[in-house]
Amino acid sequence: MPLVNRAIAAVLGAIPEGLLWRFARRYVAGVTLAEAVQAVRDLNARGLLATLDILGEHVASPADARADGLVYGNILRAIQREGLSSNISVKPTHMGLKLDRDLCLGILRDLVRQAHCLGNFVRLDMEDSTCTDETLRLYRTLVKEVPAVGVVLQAYLKRSQEDVKRLAEERANVRICKGIYREPEAIPFRDREAIRRSFIELLEILMRTGSYVGIATHDPWVIREARELIKRLGVPRERYEFQMLLGVRPDLRERLRAEGERLRIYVPFGEKWRVYCLRRFRENPEILRHVILALFRSAS
Ligand SMILES: Cc1cc2nc3c(=O)[nH]c(=O)nc-3n(C[C@H](O)[C@H](O)[C@H](O)COP(=O)(O)OP(=O)(O)OC[C@H]3O[C@@H](n4cnc5c(N)ncnc54)[C@H](O)[C@@H]3O)c2cc1C
Repeated sequence: MPLVNRAIAAVLGAIPEGLLWRFARRYVAGVTLAEAVQAVRDLNARGLLATLDILGEHVASPADARADGLVYGNILRAIQREGLSSNISVKPTHMGLKLDRDLCLGILRDLVRQAHCLGNFVRLDMEDSTCTDETLRLYRTLVKEVPAVGVVLQAYLKRSQEDVKRLAEERANVRICKGIYREPEAIPFRDREAIRRSFIELLEILMRTGSYVGIATHDPWVIREARELIKRLGVPRERYEFQMLLGVRPDLRERLRAEGERLRIYVPFGEKWRVYCLRRFRENPEILRHVILALFRSAS
C-alpha cells in the first residue's frame, strides 16, 4: 500500500465512528435502503436523476454475493413503488466475479431481467484492470439477452481506445469516467492531460455512432470540452447525460442543471461506507485535513 494510503488508513482507523460519519454523510446517502430512497427523493425533487449503489466489492462468499443481489432487487422494486427516477450501479466483484463467474452472471442476469420488466436499467461499474475483460464479457452476454444494461469505460486505461471501437459499433450504453484504481505502471495513461484527451476522444467516438453516453466527471475542463463536442456534433439531449458523485462539486452540478443539462447523481449507501470514504479522502486530502482538525478540536 503506498505511504499516503497507509497514512490515511491509519488516521481513519483512529477516528471515532461518529466523527467520521459527520464527514462521510456528504458522500454516502446512509446505511439503510430507506435512507437511500429518501436521498433519491430529495435529488429528484431538485430535478436530478440518480443511480443507486450498495457499497461493497470483492465479496467474501457466494452467500454474501447472493444476499446483496437480493438487496439490489429490493432497490429496483422500491424505485418502482416510490416512483423514483433512478437506476442501479453494480460492481461485478460485489456479485462474486472473483469467486465464481457463473454465479456472478446468474445474479446479474436476474437483476437485468427484473430491471427490464420494471422499465429500469443496470449499469455495470468498471473496477480495476484485472476485471476489464470479464466485465465486458458479462456485459455482452447480458445485453444480447435483455437490453437494460450498460457498461463503463475508463479514460485512463490505454486499452479503452480499442475497447471503445467495438462498443461504439454495438451502440452500447456507456458511462465514461477517468478511472479510480491504482494500476501497474504500463496500463494507464499517467499524465493528467493525456487522460483528459482520452476522455474526450472516447466520447467523440461513441457520440458519432449514436451510443447513449454518461459523462461522469467533475472536471470543468472535460465538461466544457464535452459540451462543445455535443454542440459541434449536434448530439440530441436524449443521447447523453452528465453524471456526478453525491457530495462532490455541488456548485458545478447546480450550474449544469440550471443550464438544462440532464444530470444523474451516483448515490452510494450501505454498511461499507468507511472504505468508500477512504477513496474520496484519497482523491481530496483537503477533506482529511478537516477531519483531523475536527478530531483534535473535539478531543481538546
Ligand atoms: C457518476 C460516476 C461514476 C463513476 N464510476 C466509476 C467506475 O465505474 N469506475 C471507476 O474506476 N471510476 C468511476 N468513477 C470515478 C472517476 O473515475 C474519478 O475517479 C472521479 O470521478 C474523479 O475524476 P474527475 O473526472 O471528477 O476529475 P478530477 O480531476 O479527479 O476532479 C475534478 C475536480 O472535481 C473535484 N473533486 C473530485 N473528487 C473530489 C472529491 N472526492 N471531493 C471533492 N471534490 C472532488 C475537485 O475540485 C477536482 O479538482 C465514477 C465517477 C462518477 C462521477
